Amino acid sequence: MKPIYDRVALIGLGLIASSMAHAMRRHGLAGEIVGHARSTETRDVAREIGLCDRVCDSAAEAARDADLVVLCVPVGAMGAVAEEIAPVLKPGATVSDVGSVKRDVIQAVGPHIPEGVHFVPTHPLAGTEHSGPRAGFAELFENRYCLIVPDGADRDAVDRVETLWRAMGAKTDEMDADHHDLVVAVTSHAPHLIAYTMVGVADDLRRVTDSEVIKYSAAGFRDFTRIAASDPTMWRDVFLHNRKATLEILGRFTEELFALQRAIRTGDGDLLFDYFTRTRAIRRGIIEAGQDTDAPDFGRVKKS
Ligand code: NAP
Repeated sequence: MKPIYDRVALIGLGLIASSMAHAMRRHGLAGEIVGHARSTETRDVAREIGLCDRVCDSAAEAARDADLVVLCVPVGAMGAVAEEIAPVLKPGATVSDVGSVKRDVIQAVGPHIPEGVHFVPTHPLAGTEHSGPRAGFAELFENRYCLIVPDGADRDAVDRVETLWRAMGAKTDEMDADHHDLVVAVTSHAPHLIAYTMVGVADDLRRVTDSEVIKYSAAGFRDFTRIAASDPTMWRDVFLHNRKATLEILGRFTEELFALQRAIRTGDGDLLFDYFTRTRAIRRGIIEAGQDTDAPDFGRVKKS
């Protein structure tokens, strides 16, 4: 395929950036891929595995002369990185990000984007609990949605970013930032918090020993432990920056939980049966939509 961008700069070289680098390489989507990571350790690994054509020691050096700069750092670090690269961005270039939260990222990054440079926020709904430059793989985005939040950006710039994601195997949809944040609070952020909590509860419950938890862990709990192994920095930032939507969903979750708790206490089998019948139908709908490999952001476990 003809390259979509002559030079793509990836800032932050973790799971998402490394998967993008592999996918762009595989499909010939970038003339040159340049990368930067904050630590020398990550930059050394990226060089060792040949992740990019060039690994730079600063974000600004990587972004200079790039046609597309993708910010692949934790949500809370986006603003500072945008500020650092702003002076070197070339006119007509596009800056994008892959952060799991959109409204706060737009507020943090937007003010730093110079006149004549386009900003197209995105969020690929794909991931694993692994992180770092070795975690990526070219198929990560295949058949997964990448949500695009145009937020008034130039139409051609948005279309080109969408073309890139489709060429990497993703399906795309456009969405408003606030709606995005609410959708992912339901499908990803609140479920992650619940998984973290459940694993914490099992750890606190001293009557069940750690070895029993591991030995007898059934599918549900095993899935929770996998989700709860996700990167702590990334998820801390997600909750701090998607506060409003996550709290709204957790409020509703708590109400439903109390209703189920009451049904168990009062022996209301009909309520439990009806509830589980409704949720089973939702699961079947997900399978019919072809989104059953894993929930968004829960991702696939990388085969090592
Ligand atoms: P990751 O594997 O943990 O990699 C994060 C990268 O950002 C690393 O290169 C790290 O550098 C760098 N970094 C961390 N803190 C930084 C800071 N304060 N300033 C500058 N650079 C910093 O993360 P990831 O999973 O690829 O996630 C990257 C972004 O994608 C996040 O915004 C996340 O919300 C979003 N996202 C993640 C998933 C997922 O499931 N993982 C899915 C969709 C979107 P060092 O290695 O040098 O520390």
